[in-house]
Amino acid sequence: VKTIGVLTSGGDAPGMNAAIRAVVRTALANGLKVKGIRRGYSGLLDEDIVDMEAQSVSDIIQRGGTILYTARSKEFMTTEGQDKAAEICRKHGIDGLVVIGGDGSFRGAADLAVRGINTVCLPGTIDLDIACTDYTIGFDTAVNTAMEAIDKVRDTSTSHERCSIIEVMGRKAGYIALWCGIANGAEDILVTERYDYDEQKIIDKIIERRKAGKKHYIIVNAEGIGDSNNMAKRIEAATGMEARATIIGHIQRGGSPTCIDRVHASAMGAYGVDLLCKGASNRVVGYRDGNYVDYDIKEALAMKKDIDQYLYDVSKTLSR
Ligand code: ATP
Repeated sequence: VKTIGVLTSGGDAPGMNAAIRAVVRTALANGLKVKGIRRGYSGLLDEDIVDMEAQSVSDIIQRGGTILYTARSKEFMTTEGQDKAAEICRKHGIDGLVVIGGDGSFRGAADLAVRGINTVCLPGTIDLDIACTDYTIGFDTAVNTAMEAIDKVRDTSTSHERCSIIEVMGRKAGYIALWCGIANGAEDILVTERYDYDEQKIIDKIIERRKAGKKHYIIVNAEGIGDSNNMAKRIEAATGMEARATIIGHIQRGGSPTCIDRVHASAMGAYGVDLLCKGASNRVVGYRDGNYVDYDIKEALAMKKDIDQYLYDVSKTLSR
């Protein structure tokens, strides 16, 4: 490869900037040219492409969001859109492309690989819902942001002897909820992957714990469970304990990345460029059992991930 393009796609995640920085600087160190593609595949189709130098990525490692912006593109989902995108890459001399995003973005990268553009993907999502890797860029920051917010809600919840239902992000994946549930010592954790909860059981438990002198009751709800406000109303009506829902929302997507996110994002960015330099294409970078690894995109997408049963069981034991 001679020229590497880099883009961020899908939902943003803290640490994406650290990954962009690593891609740019590793490519330059290998004597390659680098082009930043703004607004994901949508920007690629609009030829929103800028040259990147070492200084283009100065002072960004500590920043949340993505300096390249991110977007979703319907046009890119079509065969014509993908043909056009590959053509634009060729026009700009981009023969290697690093895509930072989630599963959907990986599918797009596979479509470009078929069209002769060497592609490598980095897992960038706060949800940790990518099967081929134990770690995704942004999860650590998001889970720490949510944990700190829940600590604060817990303080006021205790003062008012209230039940707090706290909704964290994760429409399809309950990792943030599970990790926060454990880290915040929640009384209950509701995740979509184990949607077996019985509201009456929760109500009975709240009544029993109150009698035993418990001053608060924290339920961490994954976004995919939804209905947090109505759940609070039902719980208050059934238990007589004041109940409030707090939806933490988009603050979980932003903020300065943690050390873990910066270091893994930097290593994955460098690893991705190394793969392209070796002539690899159609790969996803992952972190497995303490090592950086890579997989064929199709293989990676076919892998299944479930919530960690051991952690889930631990959370149940500890929330007595
Ligand atoms: P997140 O998990 O944060 O939402 P994502 O990468 O999965 O990230 P998507 O919206 O699914 O987010 O995908 C981002 C973009 O990737 C889409 O807007 C589209 O342009 C492209 N894309 C998604 N799915 C496909 C597909 N099956 N084939 C080609 N391109 C796709």
